[in-house]
This record gives sequence, structure tokens and C-alpha cells, in this order.
Amino acid sequence: MENSRCPYCREGIKTEAILCRHCHSRLGAVGAHGRRRALSPETWWLPIPAVVFGLLSLFCSWSTAGVYLSWDEMAGLMVIPLFGIITGLSGALIQAKGRNTAIVGCAMSALGLIVAILLLID
Ligand SMILES: [Zn+2]
Repeated sequence: MENSRCPYCREGIKTEAILCRHCHSRLGAVGAHGRRRALSPETWWLPIPAVVFGLLSLFCSWSTAGVYLSWDEMAGLMVIPLFGIITGLSGALIQAKGRNTAIVGCAMSALGLIVAILLLID
């Protein structure tokens, strides 16, 4: 099925083609870029640490409330891991944003967990 045209020689080519079979020009830079940003089989697990770290952080924050922190302070602390969980999950759901979004989610959740653990130790 030929449903696209080579921008170099104007011959009909497959939309998924990365190399024109008529003039051998490199194609599909846009398509390849879009696919590279999405979660690949190697990075599908990225939202998992985002959610796990986030939940651990929420649990640690929760256990500090009323002891070391006021409820208002705890609510402020919980924003970080909540944001991490949401960002990590949206990286998996919104494939156009994909990998980078999931990495940001992991980083946010990990940051929330570190802050919560530091507060517990203190
Ligand atoms: Zn061509």
C-alpha cells in the first residue's frame, strides 16, 4: 500500500518507510522521533518505580504527621510524591510524552521519598 510520497523524488512510498526505494533518500525522521520518545519495551517499567517510590513517600509522610509535622506541613510534603505518581503514570498513558515524562515522575517520587526519610530520621 503506497499512501505517501517521497519529499525528494515525489514517488509513491509506504508511510512507514525509512528509506525511499526509488531515490534511496533517508525518510521518516518525524515518525522515528515520535516512536523513540514513547515508552519502548525496554522502558515500560519506568512508571513502576515512580508509583512505588511515591506510595512509600506518602506512607512515610503520613507516619510523620502529628508527630514531627503538623497536618498542613504533611499535606505540603505529600504534593511531591503525588505529583511523581501522576507524572509517572501519565508517561505510560500518554505515549506521545512517554519516556521523559516517566523519568521525571521517578525523580519526583524518589525526591519525595528522600525528603520523607530525612524527616523520619531527624
Ligand atoms: Zn525518493
